[in-house]
Amino acid sequence: MDSGLLHPDEALNLVVRAGRSAHDPSAVERIDLRAALGRTISTPVFASVDQPPFDKSAMDGFAWSAHESVHGFVRNSPDSVFRVVDTIAAGEGRETPTGEGEVVRIMTGAPIPPGANAVQRVEWTENAGRAGDGVELVRFTARETISNVIRRGENQKAGELLLGPRILHPQDIGLLASSGYAYVDAALRPKVGIVSTGDELAAPGSPLGPFHIYDSNGPALCAQAQDSGCDVRFYGAFPDDEPALTEALGKALGENDVVLVSGGVSMGEFDFVPKILADLGVRRVFHRVAMRPGKPTWFGTRGGKAVFGLPGNPVSTFVNFEFLVKAHLAARMGIERHVPTLRAKLAVPLARKGSDRVEFLPAVFENDETGLAVRPLRYHGSSMLSVLAEAQGLLRMEIGTERIEAGGIVDVRLVRA
Ligand code: AMP
Ligand code: MG
Repeated sequence: MDSGLLHPDEALNLVVRAGRSAHDPSAVERIDLRAALGRTISTPVFASVDQPPFDKSAMDGFAWSAHESVHGFVRNSPDSVFRVVDTIAAGEGRETPTGEGEVVRIMTGAPIPPGANAVQRVEWTENAGRAGDGVELVRFTARETISNVIRRGENQKAGELLLGPRILHPQDIGLLASSGYAYVDAALRPKVGIVSTGDELAAPGSPLGPFHIYDSNGPALCAQAQDSGCDVRFYGAFPDDEPALTEALGKALGENDVVLVSGGVSMGEFDFVPKILADLGVRRVFHRVAMRPGKPTWFGTRGGKAVFGLPGNPVSTFVNFEFLVKAHLAARMGIERHVPTLRAKLAVPLARKGSDRVEFLPAVFENDETGLAVRPLRYHGSSMLSVLAEAQGLLRMEIGTERIEAGGIVDVRLVRA
């Protein structure tokens, strides 16, 4: 490893630790479930009711009393004819027990009537006319091997764990609603301030002067922080001018929990950011990480606030956010965030010169006859945003690995589903 460079996993530990120590468990707000998508719950939620709350039918059909055996459900006669004594819709109940030779027509979701323990699906029945007393008759035409009854509490029982700490996805919202929750106590959104630096930067929407480039990091970082559930404020792109940057960073630090600065942390003549941050009282935790892209990364804290100085190259900035900032923000909100990492085999051999850094390579997945394979994208370095926009994952090459043969197993962190 390059001397003086921190291993990225160690850098990750440090930013997570800083996030955890800044976490305030009382910093929650009660929000409507309908506004909870993407928000974080940092304490477990327990089921308030049995799910389902009663024994219910999984089928439209006829509820009846089957004779249970160890092999499933066996009925008396393979083509018994039954009297249809009642009809139960979802949302209704029935008090009178279902007797021998009787069935009750039942809809999916309706409660199983007393005395019944199984449902014959309607598709496996036929009309058998009427009995002498005018009661409708039904014949079962095939044999069910399962009960078609969802037992009370089969999914969860009241008081059991419903959801652990997490970022809420649509399926979580559904589960909370199924237990009657109309509100959740969500971690407050961390306030994140974003500052772009560089004399060469032009704001998107403005004309591009000679030798200038558009500020892509500002908008990309805002989007990444929003996607991580933060309350984001963009301060703009500032020239590499010490007084102007000092003012902007001072303001951003005053108004936010976390500040993300893009550019100005490398070894260039105009890379003032580390010095300015030190002058603003931000204590450096690390500078320079053994990862590619993203080596110049700077991280520091001031009280419970954190500052990430991210290298200006757009792919570096993105990867750094993905690998370090995301985990920090989650820890700050009181959760551990596991971004899915898939193990897949390499579709082609992969070689690099030198192996002193952990490398993240934009890659796409493909399926071959034996399953999931991953193919690194052609990539000319950390300014190539177009490749990042195409990538589904970041393929990780470890320190000490210079070559991996086709078919070798690698870890790929998902960046796009
Ligand atoms: P720096 O980290 O300031 O040395 O910048 C490294 C490279 O990233 C340079 O080529 C910059 O022009 C480029 N860069 C810096 N900031 C941005 C930005 N906000 N958007 C796009 N490219 C940037
Ligand atoms: Mg710069």
